[in-house]
Amino acid sequence: MNNNIDKLKQATIREVDADGEQLQELSLKIHDNPELGLHEFKACEWLTKYLANRNFRIEREICEMPTAFRATYGKGKPRIGLLAEYDALPGVGHACGHSLICAIAVGAAAAAKKAADQYGGSVVVIGTPAEENYGGKIVMARKGAFDDLDAAILVHPDSVDIAAVPAIACQQMNVEFFGKAAHASANPAAGINALDAMILAFNNINALRQQIRSDGRIHGIITDGGQAANIIPEHTAGEFYVRAADDAYLDELLEKVLNCFVSAALATGARLEYKPDELRYAGMRSNITLAQLYVDNMRTVGREVMLALPVLTTNLFSTDMGNVSHRTAAIHAMVSIAPPGISPHTAEFASAAGSDSGFKGMNDAAKAVAMMIVDLLSNKETMKKVRTEFEQGK
Ligand SMILES: [Zn+2]
Repeated sequence: MNNNIDKLKQATIREVDADGEQLQELSLKIHDNPELGLHEFKACEWLTKYLANRNFRIEREICEMPTAFRATYGKGKPRIGLLAEYDALPGVGHACGHSLICAIAVGAAAAAKKAADQYGGSVVVIGTPAEENYGGKIVMARKGAFDDLDAAILVHPDSVDIAAVPAIACQQMNVEFFGKAAHASANPAAGINALDAMILAFNNINALRQQIRSDGRIHGIITDGGQAANIIPEHTAGEFYVRAADDAYLDELLEKVLNCFVSAALATGARLEYKPDELRYAGMRSNITLAQLYVDNMRTVGREVMLALPVLTTNLFSTDMGNVSHRTAAIHAMVSIAPPGISPHTAEFASAAGSDSGFKGMNDAAKAVAMMIVDLLSNKETMKKVRTEFEQGK
């Protein structure tokens, strides 16, 4: 390895260690003060203060979101973006460990300043609110928040170590059937049954399920099933999610699901209203060059990381990081902070996120990401490889 780069990497490791106590304090403070998406005011304040104290230039309320921010160190390109999530879940607090994601981002960014000083380019932390309840990055991606980045890196706590996690595309939708009320015993023939339409729609979807690819997911609930048992239901409503590994197959599935609703309406005479949510989660397009850098640098700090997972038939999820990956080269890595079997969104995972194993994961990941920045800013060939892979994947 080039001697100068090696020295710089060792310096970033020392930097993360020197800041370790403050990083842990910052993460724990956010962990112990959980805030829901779009209301992460304290977290946003503490994170920007941390970065401002380390000479990052802060822009607040970017993309017209009060708890989004952008913090920049250095000048011009290449511009490496570290994405920070800091929203919590209702009831279970930081059970997804986002209090560690943001600490990894700011810790790595601060440690990588020397790389920008020596080789030029910028280190950018982007505070991205409301991953859990809103899909904040979908809105930010639409507004171009990631378009000037040459790479975007996010490390999420989990119970496994993986550099490139697949995430599948997802479209949410609201469905309503409008029928006609009538006395269910005295005069049922005068009614149009909106609940029958909803039940037929579920049955149609169940029939469709056998013929879809194993990465397809269709799931829904009824939110209005009628008004009284002795009235033919005049209105029913439901919420559905349709998911698939890639956007093209998601489009295909959506058309088939729509046919399930349309035919249910036809069969019963009810009128259908179908509203896809305006925020659609894109499938994750992982940049394998970035993922390999993460694996190599994690090895330096003593962690063996799996490069990538194929899209499995279990553990499928969607994240707004998928939308970022269509705008710039990106990875969504996982750092293990809990024993296998303890998964995010549980009380056990929330305590792991505030424990020594959480802070160990945070430290290791911050060091690896800081060293990735050294690689990306110091080596034009590596940066070019990342960009070429992204452009070819379009
Ligand atoms: Zn999460």
